[in-house]
Order: sequence, then C-alpha cells, then structure tokens
Amino acid sequence: MAKQDYYELLGVSRDATDGEIKKAFRGLARELHPDVSGEPDAEERFREVAEAYEVLSDDDRRARYDRYGHEAVAGQGFHTERFMDLSFLDDLLGSLFGGGFAGATGPEAGADAQAAIDIDLADAAAGVHIDLDLELVSTCEVCEGDGAAPGADVLTCEECQGTGTLRQVVRSPLGQLMRTTPCRKCAGRGKIPERPCPDCRGRGRRPMRRALGVDIPAGIDDGQAVRITGHGHAGELGAPAGDLYVRVHVRPDERFVREGNDVYTTVDLTITQAALGATLTVPTLSGDTEMTFDPGTQPGEIVVLRGGGLPVLQGFGRGNQRVLVNVTVPRRLTEEQRQLLEEFDRLAGEETYEPGEGFFEKLKSAFR
Ligand SMILES: [Zn+2]
Ligand SMILES: [Zn+2]
Repeated sequence: MAKQDYYELLGVSRDATDGEIKKAFRGLARELHPDVSGEPDAEERFREVAEAYEVLSDDDRRARYDRYGHEAVAGQGFHTERFMDLSFLDDLLGSLFGGGFAGATGPEAGADAQAAIDIDLADAAAGVHIDLDLELVSTCEVCEGDGAAPGADVLTCEECQGTGTLRQVVRSPLGQLMRTTPCRKCAGRGKIPERPCPDCRGRGRRPMRRALGVDIPAGIDDGQAVRITGHGHAGELGAPAGDLYVRVHVRPDERFVREGNDVYTTVDLTITQAALGATLTVPTLSGDTEMTFDPGTQPGEIVVLRGGGLPVLQGFGRGNQRVLVNVTVPRRLTEEQRQLLEEFDRLAGEETYEPGEGFFEKLKSAFR
C-alpha cells in the first residue's frame, strides 16, 4: 500500500515552517486521539500523522524525505534513532498509556501531615503557643538524609550515569515511543551509597516522633487550620518536605457567644442592683473584670466593651464584647418582703418609671 505524503497527512505546504508543522500536528493529534475520536480508523491515522510529524520536525530527515521520499527515512530506524518531543502531548497520551511520558519523577517529595488541637476561646483571642509531639516521617539523623552508612561514600549511579532517569522504549499505538522513567536502582537520585544507612535502610528518612512548637495566631476560628510550610513528612533523599496542617478546634465557652470577632455575654442584676446601681464581676476574654452599673440600669441594656472581642485574624483591629443586662425578678417573697415592695409601690409614681429607650429598641441595637 502506497504511503501517503507526509505533508498531505499533516495538511501543510511543502515549505511549511517548523512552527506550522508542529501546530498542524498538535491539532490533528487532538482530533484523532482514539479516546476522543469516534472514527474506527482514528488510531491508525493518529499513528500515521505522528510518523509524518516525526520526520518533518527533524531538519535532517525532512531534507532526506524531500529529496528521496519515504524510502530515505523508512530504513533509518524509525523511533530508535531519535524520539519525538512528547512533552506537549502528555495530556493526550496520559489517558491512553497511563501517563509518565514527559519528565521523570525523582525522589518522592514528602507528604502533607495533619494534626488537630483543641484550644480555649481565650487562647483563640490572645494567640497561643502549642507544643506538638507528632509521629512524622523525618530525615534520618544517622545519615542526615543521604542514605549512606556512616563513613560510606556516595557513588554515582552506574545504571543512569547519575542522571536519575532512564530512557526506555515502549510500544504504543503510535509505534515505539521514548519514555523517561526514574532510575530504579538509585530511585531517581543519581547517586547510590556505597553501603546503605542501617537505620533507614538507605531511604534517608524514617518515621520518628518529632516535637514541634506551633504558634496559633490570635483571632483563629473553630475549624480553621494553620499551615506550617515544610514541616510535614520529610521528602525522600533530599526531596522537599510536605506541609503540616494543624486544624484548630476552639472549645465552646459557655460564658460567651462568639459571632465573628465579637463576643456576647450576659450579666444578671437583681431588681435592687438595677435600681440602686452596682459593681459586678463580668467575664471577659482576658479574665474577669469589674463593671459598674448606674442606678436605673434597664433590662436589655447593652454595655459595649470596645476591643473586648477577638482580633481580626491576620488583619488589623479587633471585635467588641457586648454585655447584655438581664434583670432578675424575685420568684418567692416572704411576708415581710412582700409588704416592703407593696410599701415601695405605694410611694412610686410615674416619674419613678420614666420611660427611656424601649426594650425592643435596645435589643435591636445589640444586633447591629
Ligand atoms: Zn539513614
Ligand atoms: Zn540511577
């Protein structure tokens, strides 16, 4: 069967530039990819197009093809003399052959690690230093990560000549392709210890308990995580470590209701304290504080402690504490108490209960 002209296959002119050839091939490769195309002969055409591209993208072989035709390039060890630059095709070929065509993965990078801690609301407000004791894959202390036994030399890997990668020819519907894989002998590192470290068996890392201090920033909210870059599991043989994510659970504090950076508290005044004025101990995020309430303090009144809330996480300013006044009314009275209150009521007039801002208005302003 006569072979189709390479230029025709790619749909370019005989004087097409390298860029035009590459662009044409890229478009056809996408179109004819057997995973995408429904055409029964897509795979065969894909292969032909790839072959055409392989010849025309090489100046030398293109010149020979132009001069002598298919015969000149057919016997040249197609797919063995040189190999296509497949990096831009990786996304197409990945799904077909399982990936790994472009580049090689060297020593494995460290995985991210997770930790969880519980802190009090007050610590969330002030920020807190936490000492963690974690089981993490860590750089081996004996060999300091190079995987060599003490005193042993580290030699260049003979298998890959120190490059860490092996070039491998694989069969595919496109014919034979070059595939770069990490060198198995040296795990992609290019170097091999003369004698492996006995502690980590040459891997350069092993699980270890590790103490780590973590600063939890002020203003953190329940469920947020702090990322500590590079403090996750160690990478293999010098590859970068993963990150550590410390998830923070803020224990609920029954004295406070948190809303963003603000906190709400309530304070109970008896009817006499509210009427006569009083100084009471009120909890704040930074400890108890004394608050003075004027005579005639009304239920539903809100006292704002400016800056008494939580700081804005990684920002400026902080929220407020809003103290909601509750007035407790006696539930049981002795005969004497009842008489005294009746006496008081007889003496009280309209001016005693001079109306101020209504209770509902106060409540609304609390949720501003
Ligand atoms: Zn070691
Ligand atoms: Zn090697």
